[in-house]
Amino acid sequence: MSLLEKFERYPLTFGPTPIEHLPRLTAALGGKVQIYAKREDCNSGLAMGGNKLRKLEYIVPDAIASGADTLVSIGGVQSNHTRMVAATAAKIGMKCVVIQEKWVPHYDSVYDRVGNILMTRLMGADSRLVDDGFDIGIRKSWEDAIQSVKDAGGKPYPIPAGASVHKYGALGYVGFAEEVAAQEKELGFIFDYIIVCVVTGSTQGGMIVGFAAQDRAERVIGIDASGTLEQTRAQVRKIVDSTADLVGLNRAIRENEIVINSDYAYPAYGVPSEETNAAIRLAARTEAMITDPVYEGKSLQGLIDLTRKGFFPEGSRVLYAHLGGAPALNGYSYYYKDG
Ligand SMILES: *Cc1c(COP(=O)(O)O)cnc(C)c1O
Repeated sequence: MSLLEKFERYPLTFGPTPIEHLPRLTAALGGKVQIYAKREDCNSGLAMGGNKLRKLEYIVPDAIASGADTLVSIGGVQSNHTRMVAATAAKIGMKCVVIQEKWVPHYDSVYDRVGNILMTRLMGADSRLVDDGFDIGIRKSWEDAIQSVKDAGGKPYPIPAGASVHKYGALGYVGFAEEVAAQEKELGFIFDYIIVCVVTGSTQGGMIVGFAAQDRAERVIGIDASGTLEQTRAQVRKIVDSTADLVGLNRAIRENEIVINSDYAYPAYGVPSEETNAAIRLAARTEAMITDPVYEGKSLQGLIDLTRKGFFPEGSRVLYAHLGGAPALNGYSYYYKDG
């Protein structure tokens, strides 16, 4: 039985996302570990999709029920999350205000005009650029934006960064775990590990709760891309506790069920290392699977390095959760001008 039966879901995605084998990437990494990807990046027709839509499906019913007329959220300049909130607002016929902070020390001349922020503006969101730096917590600029909607006579519905510390923010990824289990039945095997990028925490947090119900949460390996491990880990802990409670898991999540590897977050949030870029190129050239320098390139780098280091026993099947994010590549064109 699903842990999510008692929760309302507003469909924003196509439904279950495909799992695909990546034979050429598998071979490039030595062929001893089978690499698969679950394509959350192809999950919707809304503005190129991504993981935030799976979260927002469980938030929208509450937003509609609240009588709000404006979704208010926050992220970096090239935030996938604010793009997805803008898309959701357009789709459900609400207005949208998003605060976009300077989370990333990156100075490509078109950084604030292409990719995510371009689409966000195109969908009619009121996108406000502010100077604050990276922080996954609750921000004053966001509270000010909420107040500004009220002052203008509107009714705001606040959605925190990454939709993560929202009460319902992790439910979508509880559903991910149940979806994987159903797909494994059809495939006739189970995955030994799941690799997922973690920053604001509700993607991995939801997975942990969902896979804990199947007694394998410790097989979810979060690859930190925040560079602020302690804050991210504390936030995942909080999300996991409140979500386990909310869905009625009936047991606490153990500390060893929260696995976060911070080896690949260098040099900083939003800045790719040489190794990140090598990982991005390898997946692009073997599988035409496009990843970004902020999130998925780093979790891919982790997947590749852990595979090469022999972290996964021979014969393992590893599922890479591809959470989206490719639009941000446009803001980093200089890195890839020669491929
Ligand atoms: C938001 C995002 C993440 C991180 O997910 P969290 O739930 O914030 O930890 C990873 N990859 C992409 C593409 C994202 O947009």
